[in-house]
Parts: sequence; C-alpha cells; structure tokens
Amino acid sequence: MDFRKTSTDSKNICEYTNQSSSWTDNDLLMLSGIQHIAFCERQFALIYIEQQWVENLLTVEGHFMHERVDDPFESEIRNDRVILRSLPVVSFKLGLYGRADVIELIKTGKYEKGTVIKIEERDGWWYPVPVEYKRGKPKPDDRDEVQLCAQAMCLEEMYNILINVGYIYYGETRHRQEVRLTRELRKSVENYASRMHELYREGNTPLPVVRKGCRSCSMVDLCMPDSLSRAQSVSDYLKQLC
Ligand code: SF4
Repeated sequence: MDFRKTSTDSKNICEYTNQSSSWTDNDLLMLSGIQHIAFCERQFALIYIEQQWVENLLTVEGHFMHERVDDPFESEIRNDRVILRSLPVVSFKLGLYGRADVIELIKTGKYEKGTVIKIEERDGWWYPVPVEYKRGKPKPDDRDEVQLCAQAMCLEEMYNILINVGYIYYGETRHRQEVRLTRELRKSVENYASRMHELYREGNTPLPVVRKGCRSCSMVDLCMPDSLSRAQSVSDYLKQLC
C-alpha cells in the first residue's frame, strides 16, 4: 500500500519539521540503537560500535514478540483503521533509519493541515499513530518512549506532518500506554541521536557504570561491569598517589 503526504501549511508545522537535514545516507545509524543508549552508553557502544551481541532470555523473548511486526512491510485494513507493519522509516535530521513496528492510520472526515495524510485509492484523511511493541512492562527510564518518539519524528519528516501521540504495547501487562510526544521528549531524542553519532564517530566504548539494570543486561558477561569498575577505582587511586 502506498500513501501520500498532504499539502501542508508550514506555519502549522512545529519547529522540528522545519529543521534542515544534516545527515546523508552514509551517516545513518540504526534507530533501534536509541533505546540502548538511553539505557546505557556502554551497552550501545558494545552492540553498535564493537558489534558484540549476546542473547539472553529477555532478548530472545523480545525477538519472538517482534517476529510478527518485523515481517516484510505489510498492511491490514479494519473498518476505519489501516494497520501498517514493519514500515521502513528514516530521518536525515536525526541521522537514523529503521523500521516502525506498527503504524495505525485512523480515518477522519476532517482535514487538518499538517496532521493527516491521504491514502491512495481511499477517501478521507488519516492520522498516523505509531505503536511500539515491547516485552515486559513499563520501565523506570525513558528508553521505550524515546524509541517511539524517534519513529514518530521520522514519520513527521517523511510526510511533513506533526504527530502528537503514540502508544507502547507491553506484552507482560498486555496494555497500551499512551505517550505524548512532548517538546522535552523530542529534545531527549535529539540529544541521544547526537550522542550516538558522537560515540560512533570517535569509536569509543565508555567504561561501565554499575547500575541495577546490569543484572538483566544482555551484555553483562562481555561488559564485566564489576571487575572493570574495580580496576578503574584502583587505577584512579594509584593516579592520586603519584
Ligand atoms: S552490564 Fe551494565 S554497564 Fe555493562 S553494558 Fe550492561 S548496563 Fe551497561
């Protein structure tokens, strides 16, 4: 299925959709990395710079849950709702590309500048709403929200629209959580994306910072946070003596 962007009134589009593009095809990083850098910079670097990866129960369950949405791009129509799965998305402003789990297009009879799109061979106007699927339950940090918001920002750039809200579906609690795509959340996405490019350019893997999340981290055996932190403390101590 193909869908076209609307004609838009630039005055009604937020500042984010008016920013000039800054990255090229060759600079693009995987959007999925934003959830890792939001959790731990070292985890991001181990996976995306050093390209190390270890499966544990949590990641296997996560992959299983994504199996359906990660099929080649497909669509489904349910009354006044079109569901797009595994849609390729890109933002040259953020320098990120990837696939959105699910984009729901919700029909409206009303045309609202800069928020709706047209679908080929279908009448009416449609609001795009991104939905991200996650195993587990809501997390204490913002990693799921920034990933969803990054997908929304890609869609905004691709179709020159503004998206105000998205949803995260959690497999463990079997509920959808509404996420308002606020200015603050967008700023976090920009900061994380910029940090991803910085670390990637420098090729640096930050040292571990031991945290509660290390226990369930898929990289814990490769990362060795306890021993490296202890080694770092000893090295700092010795430097102070010199
Ligand atoms: S084990 Fe801890 S410090 Fe190491 S990558 Fe995972 S979360 Fe980061």
